[in-house]
Amino acid sequence: MGAHAELGPSSAHRWVHCPGSVALVAKAPPDEGGAAATAGQANHALADHVLRGGSMAKKIEHEGYVYTVDDRTNVSTYLAALMPYTTDPNWYEAERLIPLPFVEDGCFGTIDFTHFDPKTGILTVIDYKSGATPVYAKGNHQLRLYGLGVLLAIELVERVTGVRLGIMQPLSSPDIHWEEWDDVDAFRALAEFYHQHALEARAPDAPLVVGSQCKWCPARSICPLQYAIGASDMALMPPVQPLVLHELEDTDLAVLFRSLKAFEAWADKIKAEVRTRLELGASIPGCTLMGKPNPTKREWVNDAAIQWIATSFPPEIGIKLVRPVSITDAEKITKLPPGVTIDVPTSRAIKFNDPGPLDKGPPLLDFQPLDLPSDLV
Ligand code: SF4
Repeated sequence: MGAHAELGPSSAHRWVHCPGSVALVAKAPPDEGGAAATAGQANHALADHVLRGGSMAKKIEHEGYVYTVDDRTNVSTYLAALMPYTTDPNWYEAERLIPLPFVEDGCFGTIDFTHFDPKTGILTVIDYKSGATPVYAKGNHQLRLYGLGVLLAIELVERVTGVRLGIMQPLSSPDIHWEEWDDVDAFRALAEFYHQHALEARAPDAPLVVGSQCKWCPARSICPLQYAIGASDMALMPPVQPLVLHELEDTDLAVLFRSLKAFEAWADKIKAEVRTRLELGASIPGCTLMGKPNPTKREWVNDAAIQWIATSFPPEIGIKLVRPVSITDAEKITKLPPGVTIDVPTSRAIKFNDPGPLDKGPPLLDFQPLDLPSDLV
């Protein structure tokens, strides 16, 4: 825990995958943190206190935060997992501030726990996660940066034969989860990978990239991609953080306003898809259609079908079609051609939170869907 560098390990997942986020985060409103962050910092402080020989029972609070029984259980579980590494105080260290110059000058990180075994040459780095959202050791950029920082420092005086990177998360698992590197040279080579990503993040034209990194991004509330990306992508995104609208700059409000059309189009597409599937008999949890199909309000499915009708009336009928013909009129004049389909009315509402047995209702379709010729689709 502790202070954070702009290109620090704790945000590495974000800046590795979204280089443009670094500049945007610098402009974002300060992240106040929440109750979980406060508790997390306090738990780390308690663990550090005990690892430095302090008494857990006597430490009641940290910066005004009073420890709960759950906090003490969480920290105790973490400390119990560390026991194999804490027998000799000469070879472990808690809350170690480590420079990471291979990322960029001034970059640093604070590592929860490091241990070196002089007999085997194994370097162990453990990150304590006090929260419940599972964090994995494999491929974890934060852990790798910690490990690289310690490796590059310690191998100046010790021979390192392997690196073990662990996540200890009591609320997720009582055991430490590992990523292990027997090939120290291969692990050391990762330093260049992070250096290149740091250069990319510092480039003036560093791109913004949407992905899982957006979930905890401090710039999410001002990120243009969060508003401008396509509707289908938005469906895969976590909820956007609530905005304090009256605190937004006029320019940011303008971005939001422009994005409304994308949100509305996105919502309309989802509703249309839900409606279509319900009408076709699908069972979508929590959704059902209200009302009955109204045959007098049927609609053509697509423009191609309308065009087909408009251009296919035989001239001897003597009707000049100046606008799309109604389905009823078309049926009176000619048979619907193969492939031209009509839809039930779109005015029926979708009701949510009431699944309702669709199969007991009236038939949802009053026509036989026909295959539209491919050149009309
Ligand atoms: S919200 Fe996502 S896309 Fe936008 S800056 Fe953050 S990480 Fe990048």
